[in-house]
Amino acid sequence: MKRAFAPLLLLTLLLTSCGSQAGPEPVSATEPVTGTVFAMDTVMDFTIYGEETLLAAAESRIHALEAKLSVTEESSEIYAINHNGSGHVSADTADLLDQALALCGQTGGALDLSIYPVVRAWGFTTGDYGVPETEELAELLAHVDYTKIDFDRKQSAVTLPPDMEIDLGSVAKGYTGDQILSLLREADVTSALLNLGGNVQALGSKPDGSPWRIGVQNPLGDGYIGVLEVTDQAVITSGGYERYFVEDGETYWHIIDPATGAPTHSGLISVTIIGGSGLMCDGLSTALFVMGLEDAAQFWRETGNFEAVFVTEDGQITITEGLTDRFSLADESPFDEVAVLYQE
Ligand code: AMP
Ligand code: MG
Repeated sequence: MKRAFAPLLLLTLLLTSCGSQAGPEPVSATEPVTGTVFAMDTVMDFTIYGEETLLAAAESRIHALEAKLSVTEESSEIYAINHNGSGHVSADTADLLDQALALCGQTGGALDLSIYPVVRAWGFTTGDYGVPETEELAELLAHVDYTKIDFDRKQSAVTLPPDMEIDLGSVAKGYTGDQILSLLREADVTSALLNLGGNVQALGSKPDGSPWRIGVQNPLGDGYIGVLEVTDQAVITSGGYERYFVEDGETYWHIIDPATGAPTHSGLISVTIIGGSGLMCDGLSTALFVMGLEDAAQFWRETGNFEAVFVTEDGQITITEGLTDRFSLADESPFDEVAVLYQE
């Protein structure tokens, strides 16, 4: 996508280290129940101030969603559509598809659910990593176009053009987090923290009323670059470091630019989105990574219902205006300056 770009209004804000660690801290006499689940190819941790039985309920909801949404599981709804060219979907998959397709449109195709054959050609999802031939990529790319996904909302039916396959990997964890938070809200939980493989979603605040403190991963190495204070929000990161392979000294990561079919080189190495909906934050973290800082900044100004932390390959952290009081550099952060992106 190409957009006219208004010059960034960047001001440099010097922040002092905050002196504390990221992650949940025990803050009340009431101990939370905690659990870990391996699903959707990642480790998921839960901290819930509520009944122990909620852990099992959350776990079974996650496995049920994975069984429908997985692109590799032969019994999933997505697998059936990809292999038959069409199919009916359950309410969950329909709901997710509906919202995810809207994000594809909103981001001008930076997010494209039909990128899957290209992702697979690079070996992501199969583990058989390698740089595909140029001709193969061109042929696969010719069938990438989310606007050609025919989704009949009334019938919950999906039809794909020949040679198209879809993948919800860019949004499935965010959607899953939203579903678990609804389940917890229905059980009257007012305080919980989910970490679905680095996608963090907070329900309410800590039991003492103070915000949750969420670490933003250092994309250049171990530890955190900073800490965000959030209440009732998702903090979702897309980073080149999350899944990649190295061939002939070159690093190839799992976020693909639908314009080229290659791992995106936008100058960004991580994008963290903070907002109310896990699904939206998950989709936008992938899409804004593809856009690069300039287009992402413009998108943020025009959209306005989320905040973001961008890290560029030249070692610059940029946060959006709404985070100035909520982001602080971590003790171990290799960065000592933060630029702020203002609305105008
Ligand atoms: P995330 O970790 O949420 O950024 O999602 C990355 C995953 O989404 C990749 O592993 C691919 O399966 C898929 N993907 C990669 N590039 C794109 C893209 N441009 N649009 C939609 N999905 C993508
Ligand atoms: Mg994502």
